[in-house]
Order: sequence, then C-alpha cells, then structure tokens
Amino acid sequence: MPASMSTLMPALMRIYTHPACLAHDTGPGHAERPQRLIAVTEALQQHFADVNGDGLDWHEAPRATRGQLLRAHHASLLASVLETRPTERIMLDPDTVLSPASAEAALRAAGAAIAATDAVLAGEIRRAFCAVRPPGHHATADVAMGFCLFNSVAVAAAHALEKYALMRVAIIDFDVHHGNGTQAIFASEPRVMYISSHQMPLYPGTGAVEERGVGNIINAPLPPGAGSRQFQEIWGEQLLPALDAFRPQLLLISAGFDAHWRDPLAQLQLATEDYAWITRELIAIADGHAHGRIVSMLEGGYDLDALRECSVAHVGALRAAP
Ligand SMILES: [Zn+2]
Repeated sequence: MPASMSTLMPALMRIYTHPACLAHDTGPGHAERPQRLIAVTEALQQHFADVNGDGLDWHEAPRATRGQLLRAHHASLLASVLETRPTERIMLDPDTVLSPASAEAALRAAGAAIAATDAVLAGEIRRAFCAVRPPGHHATADVAMGFCLFNSVAVAAAHALEKYALMRVAIIDFDVHHGNGTQAIFASEPRVMYISSHQMPLYPGTGAVEERGVGNIINAPLPPGAGSRQFQEIWGEQLLPALDAFRPQLLLISAGFDAHWRDPLAQLQLATEDYAWITRELIAIADGHAHGRIVSMLEGGYDLDALRECSVAHVGALRAAP
C-alpha cells in the first residue's frame, strides 16, 4: 500500500516492552534470565524489520500504578516487592529473586499489560504483545512465586473489568506450567474465564480438571510427551469451543513458550508451528466476539532458540491482517 495510506490507518498491533525489564537480576545460572527477553526482542526486530517495510510498532511500557496493582494484589505483596528495596539479590522463595532493579521491572511488566489493554479497548489497535519480564501467572494476590512478582495478566483483566465494565474477559494460558496465581485471583469471579493447558505433573502442582472455580476455570492437564497432536486435540475439541461459548469481549493470553520441545524445564514437546496455530485460532474467536481485541503477555520459555522461533510465530500470527 502507498506510504500515505499506511500512515492514516491505525496499526493492527503494537509491541510493548521496557529496558528496565532487562535489569531484573535473577543471578547466575537462573533459568529466568535477561537473555530471554533479549532473544525475544532481537528476534522480533530482525524478523519483522523488512516485512512490508513497516516493521513492528514498538512502545515503551509505562509503570503500573499502585491502584491498578491493588485490583489484583494485596497491599502486603506491593510492600514486599516495592518497599523492600534490597541492596543485593534476596530470595522470596527458592525460585523467585528480588534484586535492586526488580521492583521497576515488575512495575513496567504490569504497566505494559495495562497500557496494551487501554490501547486495545480504546480501539487504537486490535492486538498487542508485551515482551516483558518477570513473568506473572504464578503470582497470587499476596504471594510472589515461581519467578513471578506481580501477576500482570491478572492486573490487566481486573483493569478491563473495573475501568471498562467488561462482563466477559478471557485469560488463555498455554504456558507449560499451570497459572495457579491467575486461577486463584479469579476463582470466584464469573466475569473472568481462565483456560489453561499445562503439563501435569509439573510445578506448581495445581491445575487439575476438578479445579473449576465458579464454573469459570477450565484446566486441561497434559502428560509429559503429549506433543502437538494431543495439544491441538484438547484445544480444538474442548478449550476453544468453551472459549467461543463464553463470548469473550477481550482475550488476554499468558503466552509462555516453555511447552516447546527444546525447553529444558518441561516435556510437553510442542513444535513452533503449534504456537502459530493456537494464535490463529484465538484470533478467530476474538474476531467473532471481541472486535478482534487480544493482549498477549510473555510468560515462560527457557530455551533461547525456542523463544526466538515461538515469539516470531506468535507475533507473526498476531500481526497478520484479518
Ligand atoms: Zn512456564
């Protein structure tokens, strides 16, 4: 299309990130390391630099406010993340590190989720991907755990309910680990549907089929080695039809790429193409009920090559024209 036309049309999608997310220092040998986010952002920049000559629309994430965080979290968690002000790394649990720069990273990660949700619900863009860390889906209302400080996707969902009075917000979580924090935060909130596929047994141990909340939680545990066929079957036959029946007004994605066969922390054995497939399926549902509105958050993914490939596959599908 002519350049004059592309400048008049709103961008289809936007990427939110912030350099502060790189300064969250988990220490030597930690799986959730800054190189993960560098791999994602460099892969996106390189891969999409020359597509149609327009690349991606990069935005710097603002900080989430205290009021926005308090919709999903207790003041005690805000205090431990924001007011501890460590002068060196401290462990919040055996996996979860608070470094001097972690509070700022967590504020920017949650702020990306808020800004992306605002942009999508204001109609500025249809879809957004937040390339941020720390991840969020294990953080409960009051406990930072599993590499997660604030539950950014939950903060975004609570924002959509409160500021925009949405009645049906869906959180789709295809990270290989169960999003225990997201489930716990919304277990009694019928306006939020949480749908997760995840490996079981695996950390954090939650996510059984019987955990149904108030009928708004759908868990699909998969055995180690499940692979592409079982993944696409469970989504195609159960999870996507349930999501479609919910008629979500907004889709939020906990996009972890640790179910990939290369990942060192799990054994679900997905292929890169599975992430393009699930993304296209979610876009179809968003187009049907939600005016196309999708906000996707980076969660896990611990092999750098898999992160590069999967983020390109996921964002490539998100930026495809309807
Ligand atoms: Zn994970």
